[in-house]
Amino acid sequence: MAQRYVRIQNQEGQVYYGLLQLSLNVQVLDAPPWLQGQPTDLTLKPENYQILAPCAPSKIVAVGKNYADHAAEMGTPVPSEPLIFLKPPTSIIPSEREIRYPPQSQRVDYEGELALVIGDYAFECTPKVAQTKIWGYTIANDVTARDLQKRDGQWTRAKGFDTFCPLGPWIVRELNPGARLQTFVNDNANPVQSACIDQMVFSPDVLVSYISQVMTLLPGDLVLTGTPEGVSPLHPGDRVRVEIEGIGRLENTVAPR
Ligand code: MG
Repeated sequence: MAQRYVRIQNQEGQVYYGLLQLSLNVQVLDAPPWLQGQPTDLTLKPENYQILAPCAPSKIVAVGKNYADHAAEMGTPVPSEPLIFLKPPTSIIPSEREIRYPPQSQRVDYEGELALVIGDYAFECTPKVAQTKIWGYTIANDVTARDLQKRDGQWTRAKGFDTFCPLGPWIVRELNPGARLQTFVNDNANPVQSACIDQMVFSPDVLVSYISQVMTLLPGDLVLTGTPEGVSPLHPGDRVRVEIEGIGRLENTVAPR
């Protein structure tokens, strides 16, 4: 199994980056791994830590309509260049934390997505250089209040609620370009979303290059690469699971209203 990089909190509230071992013990690093964090002598047992989202970005840059079949289901053409927007870092929650259903919305959708973790300052990069700035990969759910997205025109409110960015549970460094992304709701064995990540319209290196022409990406920042076809509403009490082959599964429940 690929090395899994986690971020955890101990019982005293101290936050660490670490390596998740098969025993589920975490070997603590002395800094974030993309800032050359090295293993320390400290190892925490599963009963002594809580898993957090695997990074703490300065910003989350997300991409809309980056799978042709999803653009079609939204009734819109594929954009001629990447369509980017921001989600606030305060929207992030780890796997197993509840998604809050906001009282302002009557329709909250899941969007299973591959997330890129940036490892180095990226400004005005070519796609080739941008590829070297991608430190690793994790799983995101770009939760969206669809009714507010349509009503506002702007996406900030619809995409920005606290808990609207489940992330994790960990980061891996390598990913098969043909890895499959699937989303499941409740106990249904059939996925509601299923696509290979190489079906993206704009690939990860092109996305990071494009964003870097606009804003500097910092170590630990996140790029959400868009969702495939099959978005639909979640309801209070639903359980939603996003899986990506070679990474793992991100699982969250929608809190009762
Ligand atoms: Mg999305």
